Amino acid sequence: MPELSGIGVGRGIAAGPVARMSPPPPAPADEASERSAEAETERVQKAVAEVAAELEARGRTAGGMARDVLEAQAMMAQDPTLHEAVATRLQAGKTGEYAVHEAFAEFRATLEELGGYLGERASDLSDVSQRVIASLRGLPAPGVPDPGHPFILVAEDLAPADTALLNLDQVQALVTIQGGPTSHTAILAREKSITAIVGVAEAASLTEGQQVIVDAGAGAVITDPTQEQLDEAQARRAAHAAQAAAPITPGALADGTAVPLLANLGSAKSTEKAVALGAEGVGLFRTEFLFLSADEAPSVEEQREAYQSVLEAFPGQKVVVRALDAGADKPLSFLNDAPEENPALGLRGLRALMANEQILRDQLTALAQAQENTEADVWVMAPMVSTVEEAEAFTALAKEHGLATAGVMVEVPSIALMADELLSRTDFASIGTNDLTQYTMAADRLLGSVASLQDPWHPAVLRLIREVGAAGIASEKPVGVCGEAAADPLLAVVLVGLGVNTLSMSPAALAEVRAELKLHTLKQARGIAAAALTAATAGQAREAAQQAAQDAVQDTVQPAVQH
Ligand code: PEP
Ligand code: MG
Repeated sequence: MPELSGIGVGRGIAAGPVARMSPPPPAPADEASERSAEAETERVQKAVAEVAAELEARGRTAGGMARDVLEAQAMMAQDPTLHEAVATRLQAGKTGEYAVHEAFAEFRATLEELGGYLGERASDLSDVSQRVIASLRGLPAPGVPDPGHPFILVAEDLAPADTALLNLDQVQALVTIQGGPTSHTAILAREKSITAIVGVAEAASLTEGQQVIVDAGAGAVITDPTQEQLDEAQARRAAHAAQAAAPITPGALADGTAVPLLANLGSAKSTEKAVALGAEGVGLFRTEFLFLSADEAPSVEEQREAYQSVLEAFPGQKVVVRALDAGADKPLSFLNDAPEENPALGLRGLRALMANEQILRDQLTALAQAQENTEADVWVMAPMVSTVEEAEAFTALAKEHGLATAGVMVEVPSIALMADELLSRTDFASIGTNDLTQYTMAADRLLGSVASLQDPWHPAVLRLIREVGAAGIASEKPVGVCGEAAADPLLAVVLVGLGVNTLSMSPAALAEVRAELKLHTLKQARGIAAAALTAATAGQAREAAQQAAQDAVQDTVQPAVQH
C-alpha cells in the first residue's frame, strides 16, 4: 500500500509523520467498580482537572472566539452540580468512567429540555464528558492531536470549527477519509493554504507516526517514502514557493483581456495575505464563517465592525459580500435549527434569510454602514437562489438599504437555466460552482463516497455555466465565478471562454491561475471551452481542454486554428 488516492485541494506538497484525530472513546459499560469510592473519586477529580487545564491552554493558544468557547467548556468540566451527580454514582459503586458518562448524559438531557442558549451547549457537554472518559482510560483526548512536533493530520473529517482552529506551525498537511473537493473543510484548508487531500477512503489504514508525503496536486498520499521521494517533494515545495514569488500583475489573458482575479475570504484575518498575493478585490466574502459558533444573531454593530475590517483592506476595489449562507454543513443555529432530513435541499441560504427577514435586514443595515465608513466598492449577493422572484426580492431589499449593486449566486440549476431572466432583474451573477455541481450531479459535496461526481469539469455543469456566461454577454452584466472551479488553472481558462469576466478563489491559488491565463488569448480560451463542451464525461472534458490548450500554444507559433 505505498500510495493512497483521494481528491487534492490545491497543489501543495508536504511530508511528515502521521498523527491521527482521535475518535471518541467507546461508551463505558454499567458495571461495579473494583476500586473504593474514594479511589474512584480521586481518579475522576484528577481527570477533570487535567481536562479543564488542557481546554484552557488550548483556548489561550487559539485566542479570539475559540478561547471563549474553550474556556466555557473548561468551566463546564468543573461544574459543581455535575460533580455532585458524579459523586452520588461513585458512592453507589459505579466506575469513574460510567459515573461521568451517566451524570453528564443526564445533565445534557436536562439542558436540551431547557432549549435556547443552554440547549445549544448540550453537545459541548458530550465533548467534555468524552475527554474526561478518555483521560480516565489513559487514551488520547478526542479531537485534533498535539504530539508536540510538526505532523500530518489524518481524520475521518473535520468540522469547520476544527479546521479553523488548526495550528499551522504544527499541521503540515491534512488527510481526511470523508469529504469532497468542495466540502467546507476543503475550502477552509485552501483558505489557510493547508496542503490537503480529502476523500481518502484508505487513510483509515495509516498508523500513528508513519512517514508520508501528501501530494495534493496528484491527489496521492505516499506512505513510507524513500529519501529520493522526500528530496523530490522538497524540490517541488521550493518550486511552488518560487512560483508564488513571481511578479504580481493584474489578471489578464495573453491578448490583454482583463480578467480580474479576486479573493474568497471568510474573515478579516486573510485580507493581508490576499492583498499580498495580488487579489484585485474580493469576489466572495463568506460572512457566515464569522458567526459559525454564535448562538444568537450577531448585532448590527458587531457585524458592521467585522465587515468594515474586511472592506478597509480594499480601498477603491470591489468587495462582493455574500449574505449569510446558513444550512447543511454551515449551520447557524439562530437562522435554521429545525432538524431537516435533507438539509442541503432545505431552508438554507436565501430561503433561511427570507424566513428570518429581520436578520437579513440587520445584515444589510450593517453592511451599508460599513460601506459608508470605507472606500471599498461594495457589492452584495444572495446565496442559494432558485427563482427569479427570490432574486428580485433580494435585489429590492438590498437597494432599499442603500446597497447600490446587488446580485445573486448561481448555485442551483433552475436559476442557471433562467440566467437571461435573472440578469434582467438583478445587477450581476456569481456562479458558485461548488453547489452548482452538487445540485446538478445530485452528489452531496460532503460525502467521500460520491466525491468523484462532484466534478465541475462535468459537461452538464459546463453547459449550465455557458447559459449564464451567454446571458451575461447579452445583457452586458458581470458574471463571475467564486466556486473552487476558479482555482483550477485550466478550468479557469474554460470559464473565461464560457463568458465569465472575473474569477474569485482562495488567495493561495491566485499565482497559478494568473500564470495560466497569460498563456491564452480570448479566442483560444473560447476554443478550449468549446472543446470541453463537446465531451460526454468530466474526464473527457478535462482531456479535450488540455489537448485544445496544447494545440493553441502550438498555434501561437503557427497560424491559429478556428474552433
Ligand atoms: C459555491 O457553492 O460554489 C460557493 C462559492 O459557496 P459555498 O462554497 O460557500 O457554498
Ligand atoms: Mg454555495
